[in-house]
Amino acid sequence: MAKRDQFSSPARPQEFDHEPVSRRRVLSGAAALAAASAGAGLFGCRPAAVPSGAPAASTPSSAPAAPPPPSGDVVLRGATVISMDGDVGDFESADILIEGEQIAAVGPGLETSAEAVDASNMIAMPGFVDTHRHMWQGSLRNILPNGLLSDYGRDITGSARRVYRPEDAYIGDLVIALGAINAGVTTVLDWSHIGNSPEHTDAAIDGLAESGLRSVYAYGGGVAGPDNRYPDDIRRLRAERFSSDDQLLTLALAAGTNTEHWAVAREVGAPITLHVNGSGQLLPLADAMGPDVTYIHAPNLTEEEWRLVVDTGGHISIAAPIEMEMGHGIPPIQQALDHGIRPSLSTDVETEMPGDFFTQMQSVFTLQRMQALARRRDGDPEAPELISVQDVVEFATIQGAIDNALGSRTGSLTPGKQADVILLRKDAINVMPVNNAYGAVVLGMDTSNVDTVFIAGQARKWQGALTNVDLDRVERLVNESRDYVVSAAGWPATLFGGYLPGH
Ligand SMILES: [Zn+2]
Repeated sequence: MAKRDQFSSPARPQEFDHEPVSRRRVLSGAAALAAASAGAGLFGCRPAAVPSGAPAASTPSSAPAAPPPPSGDVVLRGATVISMDGDVGDFESADILIEGEQIAAVGPGLETSAEAVDASNMIAMPGFVDTHRHMWQGSLRNILPNGLLSDYGRDITGSARRVYRPEDAYIGDLVIALGAINAGVTTVLDWSHIGNSPEHTDAAIDGLAESGLRSVYAYGGGVAGPDNRYPDDIRRLRAERFSSDDQLLTLALAAGTNTEHWAVAREVGAPITLHVNGSGQLLPLADAMGPDVTYIHAPNLTEEEWRLVVDTGGHISIAAPIEMEMGHGIPPIQQALDHGIRPSLSTDVETEMPGDFFTQMQSVFTLQRMQALARRRDGDPEAPELISVQDVVEFATIQGAIDNALGSRTGSLTPGKQADVILLRKDAINVMPVNNAYGAVVLGMDTSNVDTVFIAGQARKWQGALTNVDLDRVERLVNESRDYVVSAAGWPATLFGGYLPGH
């Protein structure tokens, strides 16, 4: 109990900082370094003030400016290639030719006049693919670090969602999408249960579109009320915003267990994605289940339900860190594999967990091996095989693309697919010298290794920095949104929580 007492004694609340962004930026370079070296925080007398979110110290003026990202066709030269395509294979060193939006060729010594990029210090691989993330919550990152599922329902999809405005959905989606790109995640299914009104929905889509991320917009319900048009408004979305499946943003339905809603999704050709946490929920849905459905979490399915998922060609999305933290149950990595299902991975919520996929891969890798090795130690003759780092890269890329109904467009470095390619630094201090490419990606790397990110052939991150993004504006808007939501929800503006269970 002593430990609990320690944490139940609240720290003196610190107010959110309201200092103008411009001043932070002024301090973000040499002045910030000088202040830090002098032992002062960026905000002087407030030692525990909110971190500024400012980028690392700017490049000294004497250093050569980084070349601009390529604007036309490009060939990435000399990369260690993880293709996730058995026909293409992997290469110790090879080139990747990107023409327009597409991968044109992968192999050593490609002859081309396209602009060359030296990738000899890089691992090149397909961008990571997330099959479930609630992106509207961008202004609420890490606000519920100790929360259980019940806390989340009360505070996030309860209090916060009730006060959300369209502009909160917009900046939430934008900041989460940019964070994904920064971490080498090139596709995310946005499970957008912020459909309080068509204006909320459109604002979330605007945030996605502005980011340049490949996104599956899974239209979801929100707070009940006269402006909530779920699910019928998906017909308008199909006509107005998603008239083609050939675009960067595609459409899905974020559904519950009402199969009348599933029918509306199928009417407009949208795949279906739903959360499944308990046991027996799928049995009444048996006649509606099909290969266009992804089941999220699924930690407590009965054997009969697993057979239904298998027999109908369904997909499984595991959000391992969140499930372990918030109490959904044990992530069903082993059950999926036992039933011949290759799962995809998903972040779920950044109110608690980070949005990178290194965390995701490490979580399922260590969890499955812990479970399998425990059964071996117990003498279980049917103890399963251990999964490998190659397996989890597959889950994090091509399997995510398949589950997002984008398997023919992304998820592997296959000529003819969209050029969603990431370059990961091999020469960084956390992985040098690279001795095993898959091992380095899964177990050695983090977001700091993500050097360059192409989405549909566009360099959205280039040599360590996001491109064409006004970060000052993004920071200002997301702080304003956070301040509004926290105030309107009736929460105290503190960076140390402790005011409700779970915070
Ligand atoms: Zn979820």
